[in-house]
Amino acid sequence: MSDHLAGGYDLVIFDLDGVVFLIDKPIPGAAEAVERLRADGTSIAYATNNASRRAADVAALLAGMGVSADPAEVLTSAGAAAALVAERVEPGAPVLVVGAEALRGEIRDAGLVPVDSAGDQPVAVVQGYGPEVGWKILAEAALAVRAGATWYATNTDRTLPSPRGPLPGNGSLVAVLRTALDREPDVVVGKPQPALFTTAASLTRAERPLAIGDRLDTDIQGAVRAGMDSLLVLTGVSGPADLLAAPAERRPTFVAADLSGLFRPAEQVMVPAAAVDGWTLARQGDGVVLSGSGDPVDALRLLCGATWEGIAVAAISAGSEAATEVLRGWGL
Ligand SMILES: [Mg+2]
Repeated sequence: MSDHLAGGYDLVIFDLDGVVFLIDKPIPGAAEAVERLRADGTSIAYATNNASRRAADVAALLAGMGVSADPAEVLTSAGAAAALVAERVEPGAPVLVVGAEALRGEIRDAGLVPVDSAGDQPVAVVQGYGPEVGWKILAEAALAVRAGATWYATNTDRTLPSPRGPLPGNGSLVAVLRTALDREPDVVVGKPQPALFTTAASLTRAERPLAIGDRLDTDIQGAVRAGMDSLLVLTGVSGPADLLAAPAERRPTFVAADLSGLFRPAEQVMVPAAAVDGWTLARQGDGVVLSGSGDPVDALRLLCGATWEGIAVAAISAGSEAATEVLRGWGL
């Protein structure tokens, strides 16, 4: 039995943005974490909902940030969508592509023919994020779906991170068609659907996979649906207040400030925690009082034990100066 969290797993699946990098900068410690896992013989996979880059481009991007990656280790929602469509239609079938060139390339490589008009009688519409997607191609997609084409969305992330703040993501463009057609996509491929995770596990023949992500509503929910343990890192989108309020289907197995949590003893990262160093929790009426001092993530693990059992997040109060500071830092 291993003495650190990652030692209990034979595959670690990383989400990218918010876990390994933030938009275009590596997150400190990510490259070291990957190297240490490799040295321990742990398989690595990268799973991203972003459908605008191909696996080889993602691997090159990671390498440019000092994070080692083989294209075969990278699973994108574009590649997964193309594989899924190819499984279900005849080789050479016309597929209307709404998205970036990367998605067209994946469709082509899967033995299908990308088209851009409903007049080409596509059997499927595959929709992924692309900065050039506009009304014209969305109109063709609406016509094709109405004529009976199966509608695949690579993912439904409403926003994309950018240095200027969140921008419309594929989910926002899917919402255009959803509104026009008054229906949902037939298939959503990316997280929180489990396909990227289960594919990563079957490709590496892993028996004990661990998924790491920064979003409860995609990464962690996807891991729960895939039946995998998961680690939430607090370097991206979801914060402590989100974790405290998380419904059962979005609760990770572990939480850590960053990827260094992989190399701590599992019981120091597990969530919820019944007891932690430095902090104590006392019931008071319908709420709880946090007292003591210590690592804020330990306080979070302790508090999840209360809020996940039904204590309202608004009913948490501070019984020490350090607790006041921690709760304020979380926006509570
Ligand atoms: Mg992310």
